[in-house]
Amino acid sequence: MTTKIRTYQNLINGEWKVNQTTEFFENRSPANHGEVVGLFPKASIQDTQEAIESAYAALPGWSNMPAPGRGAILEKASQIIHGRLEEIATTLTREEGKTLAEARGEVARARDIFRYYAGEGWRSGGEALPSSMNGELLYTRREALGVISIITPWNFPIAIPAWKIAPALIYGNTVIFKPAEDSPLTALMLVEALMEAGLPKGVINYLTGDGAIIGTEMVGSSKVNGISFTGSHAVGAQIYQHAIKNMTRVQLEMGGKNALVVLKDADLNLAVDLTVKGGFGLTGQACTATSRVIVEEDIAEAYIAALVKATRNLIVGNGIESNVQMGPVVNLDQLRVDQEYMTIGKSEGAKLLIGGEVDDASGYYAQPTIFDHVQPTMRIAQEEIFGPVISIIRAKNIDDAIEKTNAISFGLSAGVVTNNLKHAFAFANNVEAGVVKINEPTTGLALNAPFGGFKQSSANTFKEMGQAAIDFYTRTKTIYVGHGS
Ligand code: NAD
Repeated sequence: MTTKIRTYQNLINGEWKVNQTTEFFENRSPANHGEVVGLFPKASIQDTQEAIESAYAALPGWSNMPAPGRGAILEKASQIIHGRLEEIATTLTREEGKTLAEARGEVARARDIFRYYAGEGWRSGGEALPSSMNGELLYTRREALGVISIITPWNFPIAIPAWKIAPALIYGNTVIFKPAEDSPLTALMLVEALMEAGLPKGVINYLTGDGAIIGTEMVGSSKVNGISFTGSHAVGAQIYQHAIKNMTRVQLEMGGKNALVVLKDADLNLAVDLTVKGGFGLTGQACTATSRVIVEEDIAEAYIAALVKATRNLIVGNGIESNVQMGPVVNLDQLRVDQEYMTIGKSEGAKLLIGGEVDDASGYYAQPTIFDHVQPTMRIAQEEIFGPVISIIRAKNIDDAIEKTNAISFGLSAGVVTNNLKHAFAFANNVEAGVVKINEPTTGLALNAPFGGFKQSSANTFKEMGQAAIDFYTRTKTIYVGHGS
């Protein structure tokens, strides 16, 4: 018996629809590429323009609704996500590949983000300032920025959209949302939750398809007031150049090449656990993944032996199965990238300790891979791979380790494993990264804390998440009231 493959639609102005000429693309499961998860529309420029018009038309109504009222809808969406948690997590694993445990954690994160920003509806606002004159009230208003284009990557298909869409909505903006081609169904479920929660039509619009077509229109339109993008540096750089034409506000969060520093006083078991979690958790497909380990020479051999042993025990497979610890790579292109860097590492003269092979027979699987004796200038130490490949670099001491941590163009996340408080703070104060972790994995973020990279990892304009999000999603108006008394 063959099961019928479901065809999905876009959401424009509150209606799920496609036009008659729409073509569709297949969304396949990376764990089993014979399995088609669904067919998704390739939205056209015209569809995109319609979505932008609808967000523009919905703006006055939504931005004038009292913020606690908007918050009530976000709270309801959070509850709906909670009710569908298992279904959404299973979908996430099917289309993106991460393990079911990782997917459940991500969906729960999206639920909590909506709950957090629902509460911001009661709290956030402008401020009253002391006036230099008698008889004057001086205050500021935080107004919605306007129509926001939200463009997201495939690797966190519900958490990243949630941490952009929830603040956009609570501060009164309307949205055009384009998820990545590899994980559109999880993103669609988030949009469904919002619509079921009572979001008025046009406040969110959802489009799938080619980033170069839809994305270009979402960035270049004069009706768009803000662009929040997470993805690769190459695409982010194009968006930045394009957005300057209308001087549209941008927030761009991009790649990483994150280091975990292991100092000689570290708890070795902890160091190994953190390396495996940060480097091979999520199949190494996190912007904050550990892709370099910088280890102090004195303990390098003992640490490396324990790390290789732990890596050998990892169970790689279909993330739906409960015993699997590392799922597949998202698609064939990414598998080829991983494979290419495995070859580059060998040809650059690094020593392959474990892994180094890929398999695409039924799904896209890469072996967890570790290179030793990597030099900081090698390509495997400099370029983002976005797969389960760790490069070990030796360091003489803490100063050398910090210098090597900083010797890259990216600056997203950096970690240190140490029991020496002085070294921990020297690292935290001198490392060039937007996120610093001490005795914790380079991955994992608090939803109420500001997040964003330094250097080429970010446009360095506005932080995401927590209360910091208000700066990107609002504009500040200053009001002087002469009341004479
Ligand atoms: P990508 O840049 O290929 O795509 C991201 C999004 O941009 C997709 O929705 C895509 O369709 C769209 N897009 C493509 N071309 C476009 C264009 N010309 N104009 C507008 N939009 C366009 O990235 P990806 O492969 O989906 O994700 C992996 C990358 O994301 C990695 O580099 C990773 O480090 C980065 N990432 C960063 C963070 C962070 O917070 N810093 C988080 C997760 C992922």
